[in-house]
Amino acid sequence: MSEDRRQLTAQNSFRHDPDFVHVAVKDTSVCESACQRHPCVTICPSGVFVLEGDGATHATADYRFCVECGACKLVCPFNNVYLVLPRGGFGIEHKHG
Ligand code: SF4
Ligand code: SF4
Repeated sequence: MSEDRRQLTAQNSFRHDPDFVHVAVKDTSVCESACQRHPCVTICPSGVFVLEGDGATHATADYRFCVECGACKLVCPFNNVYLVLPRGGFGIEHKHG
């Protein structure tokens, strides 16, 4: 699914930072036990979040394609998303706008 979603952001390019993960789920047990709809999975345009069969949710290595929109942090009802900007010089390079 994330490959399909990345078509949406294919106009952009990304400078990956392998030494700093700027998106993560703080506590996957919260996703599993308390979150009903897992909105981070649905809303992320880059397909960063993956819902496992048991309800736990993880941020994957696709954080490299994060467009820094902030939506995942906004929609999480439990403030369970860790999100900061990539380090200087890394992250998305917008082609349009
Ligand atoms: S900031 Fe946007 S693109 Fe990045 S992980 Fe969150 S929802 Fe996905
Ligand atoms: S919205 Fe928050 S609590 Fe729900 S699955 Fe995503 S990170 Fe977990």
